[in-house]
Amino acid sequence: MTITAGIDLGSRAVKAVLYDAGRRVVVAARVADATGDHRSDADLILSALLRAARLKPSRLAAVILTGYGRHTADLDGDVVTEIACHAAGARALFARARTVIDIGGQDSKAVYLGADGKVGDFAMNDRCAAGTGRFLETMALALGLSVEQLGQHALDAQGTAVRLSSVCTVFAESEVVALIARGESSQRVALGIHEAIVRRVGSMLRRLGVSERMVFAGGVARNACMCQLLAQEMALPLAVPDNPQTVGALGAALYAARQVT
Ligand code: ADP
Repeated sequence: MTITAGIDLGSRAVKAVLYDAGRRVVVAARVADATGDHRSDADLILSALLRAARLKPSRLAAVILTGYGRHTADLDGDVVTEIACHAAGARALFARARTVIDIGGQDSKAVYLGADGKVGDFAMNDRCAAGTGRFLETMALALGLSVEQLGQHALDAQGTAVRLSSVCTVFAESEVVALIARGESSQRVALGIHEAIVRRVGSMLRRLGVSERMVFAGGVARNACMCQLLAQEMALPLAVPDNPQTVGALGAALYAARQVT
């Protein structure tokens, strides 16, 4: 049994996957809140995974780090970019995937893959929170909801979305508070919040040029309303993995497997 690990140190969450490179199966996967201490986050999640899989640390043949904190974790193991890891993870789950959309806590990325699975081109928004999970987190708070509740709340809307006029997170937050104070339906406002983020991600995807075989990854893909609206916006089917948040960590574990097989 040749075991490798991929750790994705994100801005909001740390994700890790243990992979059996011999049998080509995922042994265990985990998501935890990021504390900002990348070294300790990586150590903790790796120990938890190894315990869950009843494996000794000495069984680990290789570790690859990816994500925002990959350079500061100071852990044994090479680093690979999030773009490359998301591409590898998505292709492992959907063999014919050609476009990967990853929306995380503080950035969103679109990656275009060649027929051979290699990264062809990519676009990234890391300047503005409006196309990211942070926008959803801020708006959920403004509505008195958790980020886990926000998507279903929006899907429960009766009627059309209340369109937000501001895309900037700070202005949009005040606008949401004012709309609720004015008596607008919280569900229709929530739908408007999702539409605002989907419009931004949609224009990034169109700039890149989308293919028909799209995979939606990252924590925001756990939001059912985002999945539905993004598929509508692109007028294309969207494949969403069972565990979209660990796609990058899976890709990292696969890169680690390449080092030892
Ligand atoms: P990062 O890599 O930057 O840490 P992630 O890909 O882990 O980001 O995604 C974090 C984002 O995912 C959060 O900002 C939140 O919007 C969203 N998210 C996480 N868990 C859930 C959930 N259970 N339901 C809906 N959205 C979620």
